Amino acid sequence: MNIDVSKLVRKNVLALSPYTSARGEFTGNAKILLDANENAFGSPLAENYHRYPDPMQTGLKEKLADLSGLTATQICIGNGSDELIDLLIRIFCVPAQDEIIVCPPTFRMYDVAAGLNDVAVKRILLTEDFQPNANVILQETTSGTKILFLCSPNNPTGNDLDYDTMQELLSSFPGIIVIDEAYISYSNQPSFLPLVSEHNNLVVLQTLSKAWGLAALRVGIAYANEEIIGLMNRIRMPYNVNGVSQSLASLALNNRSATAAWIAEIKSERARVQEKLPLFSFVIRVYPSAANFLLVKVTDAKALYQHLVSCGIIVRNQSTQPMLANCLRMTIGTPDENNTLLQALNRFES
Ligand SMILES: *Cc1c(COP(=O)(O)O)cnc(C)c1O
Repeated sequence: MNIDVSKLVRKNVLALSPYTSARGEFTGNAKILLDANENAFGSPLAENYHRYPDPMQTGLKEKLADLSGLTATQICIGNGSDELIDLLIRIFCVPAQDEIIVCPPTFRMYDVAAGLNDVAVKRILLTEDFQPNANVILQETTSGTKILFLCSPNNPTGNDLDYDTMQELLSSFPGIIVIDEAYISYSNQPSFLPLVSEHNNLVVLQTLSKAWGLAALRVGIAYANEEIIGLMNRIRMPYNVNGVSQSLASLALNNRSATAAWIAEIKSERARVQEKLPLFSFVIRVYPSAANFLLVKVTDAKALYQHLVSCGIIVRNQSTQPMLANCLRMTIGTPDENNTLLQALNRFES
């Protein structure tokens, strides 16, 4: 769908003239930088970090453009996707007036970011097979419903959201649709990235925290049309992605083969663990997964969680999420780690 995005934007955001940083104003070649009050001597470290980083993250965006098939102007990089979720809510949702729609059980950050901004959250549960209920979503949408958050593959259920249902929503939801693809590398379903150029209300979120193995660097990516990216650039902090993260992430993106090999290995380990888990008597159900984790329904999640802690293994108890009573989320680790998990489960059985 193509909508009038500017009509959805908060008035104060449209009126804002962004802070321009010293290093952001200047382009070209300079020998002497006396514009940003840095320490010109250097840093008390083996390497120098005394210059502010590129506020437009040009080098990293070029790598991501190449990887995604989109252009640098369709990319906004955040200090993790968490920052991008917050930015999107702040661009479109007037506090104490507008709302977002989320589809639990899902990633909790959408809820948290909305709450922080005093934005109401309409929760429309996934269906029993963990799919978005498109009819109810559209029925419940009002003029104050600014953003619909979908997560595919969904955390913590692990499944892909149905591609056709998401397409249906894309052609009928009158607000911004955010599709969070943090786990897309582990899925066999295609990404929505190619649709960013067709739908001006679509934002696809990806991250370097999972498959790329760079969680410590905090690099999240929003792909959207130029208008939304322009708004995100307008309100984000000028140096939101630090220089170390920019340069290390750029280097890492050159090494695609290591990441591809890990993805393949995690998928095969996922299949192996998925096959073993139902053999335990306390496992009620192992849900199908298109991500790097398994959601497992057990007889007593709390007891099993405590047992695993006592074995030095931490999983995530998801029991407080709707529809997920007695469910644990287990990340797929290395083969050794997965074996240790299976042994610990064996001990719980006996
Ligand atoms: C882990 C995860 C992210 C990544 O967040 P970062 O802030 O980029 O580390 C985003 N969305 C979902 C659903 C996740 O599970």
